[in-house]
Amino acid sequence: MPLYEYICQKCDNQFEKRVSFSEADEEQECPVCGSKHSRKKISLFASKVSGSTFTSSGTASGCGGSGGFT
Ligand SMILES: [Zn+2]
Repeated sequence: MPLYEYICQKCDNQFEKRVSFSEADEEQECPVCGSKHSRKKISLFASKVSGSTFTSSGTASGCGGSGGFT
């Protein structure tokens, strides 16, 4: 089962919970205050940036001069 992160709306506690996909969007009970007003955080998988491979092909200016370090 996937691990989800929740934030308690009542006491701001963040907790992780293993729930099935079907229960993931339901409110989970906060282990601290027992409130069920929790909100699911975005999963770690979703925060991964897709595509856009940065290729900064530019080592042109600056480096490799006559090296005048004094
Ligand atoms: Zn709480």
